[in-house]
Amino acid sequence: RMPAFDHVPLPYDGPSAAEIARKRAEFLSPSLFHFYSNPLNIVEGKMQYLYDERGRRYLDAFAGIATVCCGHCHPDVVDAITVQARRLQHSTVLYLNHAIGDFAEALAAKMPGDLKVVFFTNSGTEANELAIMMARLYTGSHDIISLRNSYHGNAAGTMGATAQKNWKFSVVQSGVHHAVNPDPYRGAFGSDADKYVRDLHEIIEFGTTGQVAGFISEAIQGVGGIVELSPGYLPLAYERVRKAGGLCIADEVQAGFARVGSHFWGFETHGVVPDIVTMAKGIGNGIPLGAVVTTPEIAQVLTRRCYFNTFGGNPLCTAGGLAVLRVLEKEGLQENAHAVGSYLKDRLRSLQDKHEIIGDVRGTGLMLGVELVTDRQLKTPAKDEICHAMEHMKEMGVLVGKGGFYGNVFRITPPLCFTKEDADFFVGVMDTALSKL
Ligand code: PMP
Repeated sequence: RMPAFDHVPLPYDGPSAAEIARKRAEFLSPSLFHFYSNPLNIVEGKMQYLYDERGRRYLDAFAGIATVCCGHCHPDVVDAITVQARRLQHSTVLYLNHAIGDFAEALAAKMPGDLKVVFFTNSGTEANELAIMMARLYTGSHDIISLRNSYHGNAAGTMGATAQKNWKFSVVQSGVHHAVNPDPYRGAFGSDADKYVRDLHEIIEFGTTGQVAGFISEAIQGVGGIVELSPGYLPLAYERVRKAGGLCIADEVQAGFARVGSHFWGFETHGVVPDIVTMAKGIGNGIPLGAVVTTPEIAQVLTRRCYFNTFGGNPLCTAGGLAVLRVLEKEGLQENAHAVGSYLKDRLRSLQDKHEIIGDVRGTGLMLGVELVTDRQLKTPAKDEICHAMEHMKEMGVLVGKGGFYGNVFRITPPLCFTKEDADFFVGVMDTALSKL
């Protein structure tokens, strides 16, 4: 394991935070949003820490939306992309290149069953778009089922599969059905997996021809507020979907790459083996990269079709991806995520005993959620309170994410090198912030 980092940030001579904020207002997309009233100007990252232009250090408990798994600017990843950048930065998959082959082989070795054919994309959205298209081509059916409260991306097909109004700007939803979310805390049927599967069954019976293309689900909903699916749901759902001729797609964009600690992939915590697995985020520790992995049989649907994108499998990204896999193994980051995640979850549960505002603590490994409510019985979302708490935490040097349908859930998804000391510091800061509310 890496020793605790004693890092002095490089002197910063770039523009001030105010100057960057002005440029942002003038030149950047108005749809951008940020968590804090004064946007942070982050100029450097080292492992689990980020530094602003004043050299202030923040413990990063969000990791660029559950993306930086090995730690910011991990030396091995930096070396791998630097060496590759000197050799060959780009060539497309029209030519072979050792980086793409080595990485595809290493990724396939991480998968169960017959999942071994890899397609590279540039993002999670594209990976899910491709997976949905493959399921439709393979089955000849158009109907896709996803879960309410899910997030799968923001292009035509994936925005349709995504089921939260906050993330939908148009009704591009052809052929997608949304099943009742098996959410133990807020779901219509509590933790009763059978009832949720009954809903899925009815969607197939009443909303389709009885045959479907596929079912897509996260193992733990990330954007939706770290929602763990009711135990037993996924195996039953997979069974029902397969009976209807559909393929089961695991969206591992957020939960994959050791984040859940007990397993390498989130779907493994449910004891299922998907037909198609999509991934991004942690795959590159922040390098823009995504992938779809499926079986040779399903992959055949792309034979003699030109599925291709210019940057997919770019050598810089795949060389970086290979380094990420090696670091995860070498530094035992999955085991660390498991140990530190369990410890942190216990400590957060103790915090719940102290603070009435904490309605629920949930998640697995280093994918944890703390839901704030103003009334525990009514589960009234504490939307403003979470924003104030995040500001307080930032002032005390901790960055954390938020999400959920009501935006009232802390999303705690730090780099997997997070230590118990970091967890203690985090809990202390959250405790103080909640006390200040
Ligand atoms: N699926 C899940 C589960 C995600 O969390 C995200 C991103 N938040 C996506 C897909 C889309 O990935 P990207 O932003 O890389 O397109």
